[in-house]
Amino acid sequence: MKADSYRFDGSGKCRLDKLATNSKADGIDKEKILAMTAENLQKMAALQDAFYADGREGLIFVLQAMDAAGKDSTIKHVMSGLNPQGVQVTSFKQPNSEELKHDFLWRVNKALPARGSIAIFNRSYYEDVLVVQLHDLQKGYQMAPRVLEQDKDEFFAQRYRQIRHYEQYLYENSYRVVKIFLHVSKNEQKKRFLERIDNPAKNWKFSASDLAERAYFDDYQRLYEQVIDATAAKEAPWYALPADQKWYTRYLVSEIVVDALEHTSHNYPVLSTEAQQNLQDCRTRLEAENS
Ligand code: ATP
Ligand code: MG
Repeated sequence: MKADSYRFDGSGKCRLDKLATNSKADGIDKEKILAMTAENLQKMAALQDAFYADGREGLIFVLQAMDAAGKDSTIKHVMSGLNPQGVQVTSFKQPNSEELKHDFLWRVNKALPARGSIAIFNRSYYEDVLVVQLHDLQKGYQMAPRVLEQDKDEFFAQRYRQIRHYEQYLYENSYRVVKIFLHVSKNEQKKRFLERIDNPAKNWKFSASDLAERAYFDDYQRLYEQVIDATAAKEAPWYALPADQKWYTRYLVSEIVVDALEHTSHNYPVLSTEAQQNLQDCRTRLEAENS
């Protein structure tokens, strides 16, 4: 699939400046892509139905990105191909005081899906190695001196390890984690910010703090590369998808979701002979009602 060219599973290094933020390099036709996206949404719905009935595996999609890269609209679009009964979206905001009193994975555990269900994380525990690392937020945390007095690089190297182990733990407990980074260019972010400022219906989406974070755009790119390299694994891959054209991002995400569902168990449970006999008895009783 096309999304494979943006996949990182630990075997190669992620260089964001070498990766496209738009569809040009892939030389594709927009009309065809739109039709294929619609097809994927249908496939997704059928697969999810069986995945839900099967109930032996859980799926977690992690979405990370700079502001205005399109997390919300991507989620909205993917959701249109899924049955809301089997999906839960969790947005990870700045931790509240209760959350800050716990380890950083505490709130994540509470958001894990039951097997047979899908969780979509709008931001995630990756913020704890991104925004936290960039702004040294850990310095303000209530933690023992032995934790905070160590070297900063050591502190975050430990977190990378904890995340790798956590994702491996989930895999070994019948979950799959798929991580998606929406790779938007600095120029496109500017356009989208301006649109949010100029369009009254979008004003609510913009805050001056988004502009403050934009000043760190290049630092974030480097940090994302580091984080992707440190946490990409065969069983918990990252995808760094071009995000300057929403229709293309949506297509790639739809491919990834279909692929993930195809790789999880999605067989309708087969009934035992006894249960099948029971069904037949019920059928006979229903038919007898009319006579
Ligand atoms: P939108 O695109 O609508 O602005 P958003 O995901 O940016 O969506 P906001 O409420 O604007 O939502 O921002 C959430 C903020 O919370 C982000 O700036 C993010 O970096 C921050 N955040 C999330 N998790 C953590 C964390 N563990 N520590 C510190 N900040 C965090
Ligand atoms: Mg925001």
